Amino acid sequence: MSHDYRPMWSDLGLDLDAHDALLDVLGKGYADIFLSQTNRPKGMEYFDFVMSEVHGLRIKELLDEKEQGRKIIGSYCVFVPEEIALAANATLIGLCSGAEFATEQVEQYLPRNTCALIKSSFGFKLGKVCPYLESADMIVGENTCDGKKKAYEILDDLVENLYVMDIPQVKSTQGRALLKAEYYRFKEAVEQLTGVSVTLESLKKGIEIVNNKRKAVHRLAKLRAASPAPISGLDALLANQVFFYDNPERFTASVNAICDELEERIQAENGVVTKSAPRVLLSGCPMAVPNWKLPWIIESSGAVIVGEESCVGERGTRNVIDDSGSTIDELMDALVDRYFKVDCAIFTPNKERLNHIEEMAKDYKADGVIHYGLQFCQPYLIESIPVEKALDKKEIPTLRIETDYSMEDVGQLKTRVEAFIEQLK
Ligand code: SF4
Ligand code: SF4
Repeated sequence: MSHDYRPMWSDLGLDLDAHDALLDVLGKGYADIFLSQTNRPKGMEYFDFVMSEVHGLRIKELLDEKEQGRKIIGSYCVFVPEEIALAANATLIGLCSGAEFATEQVEQYLPRNTCALIKSSFGFKLGKVCPYLESADMIVGENTCDGKKKAYEILDDLVENLYVMDIPQVKSTQGRALLKAEYYRFKEAVEQLTGVSVTLESLKKGIEIVNNKRKAVHRLAKLRAASPAPISGLDALLANQVFFYDNPERFTASVNAICDELEERIQAENGVVTKSAPRVLLSGCPMAVPNWKLPWIIESSGAVIVGEESCVGERGTRNVIDDSGSTIDELMDALVDRYFKVDCAIFTPNKERLNHIEEMAKDYKADGVIHYGLQFCQPYLIESIPVEKALDKKEIPTLRIETDYSMEDVGQLKTRVEAFIEQLK
């Protein structure tokens, strides 16, 4: 890191020893998994820098924004609309939840058999190691799966500023009306937090900024359809992870710069792997920073990941918002239209997700699909069975993985993944 950030972390109330230990593991993991890759696009240097400063420079930027009167909002789900936050002079950041931390303390609040993502969000709070969480003026929870819904009731006692958004579970007229009402309620809560009213112009601007960010990752996703693959799945996943906490305009420019480079690579048939490397589509639970275990196993076994059907990936970023509305209500409707298409497994029925997985497998020319389910995540683990059946009918090989954030099962996972990749060959 370029600077001594310890006084800043201390002011935020972090446990400096625990935080040092986390950064140490993160830095080593990043070097082993990302920096050891060969023939990476030059543009990835920006993301290496972002990761090296993930708890440093970016936090300093957020604190500087706060000094200038902006508010910081932390969120755990892609249903929380960044456009509204931006329109009311707030910055939205994703709260990662991708690593095990303070497990013993967490299990005093949550049952052992809670998914790793939820446990991680508690571990980062209880272990006092997340400067994003501690910088946030508002933390937004959402009633999505039962685990999160009930966990937020407990988190409410651990943080001062929790706001919970209700999310429909059925794609009906009533479900849409609920989402619209909740987005209006969120708009009012953010306006109250920042003291800034959302205007037609500011909402249009917020939509434009986030649309541009999504268009850049759509462009990146499309380029991965090329053979040989011009970028590794790990690097593309990293860009999708950084999506949640970088400055949005800088992120857009950085992803577009990588895309320019990838276009040249595709022309020159310069891939990160050979044409014969099996192509895998990853589908399932979101992978937040620093959850790189399964992609690393897949790619170090000789395959390349060509797409992520995930909230940290295409499920989360698919579709842009129509910004042609001439009233705030028209823009809010357009916003609801876009978010209502997110096919999270909390919805029932959820046929759209099956269709999207098939579409993505075809578009990105995947030879097979690996479905990633976190242990104890009922929505995605249950849905993995119809996903496998639907893909079976299309003769697309599928491997269902159930895991958590520990490294204990790496050997066993590697054996299964290698056998699957052999089969794809
Ligand atoms: S998987 Fe569902 S609950 Fe999780 S981030 Fe995505 S939309 Fe939200
Ligand atoms: S991974 Fe599954 S159980 Fe965990 S928070 Fe997401 S939807 Fe809920």
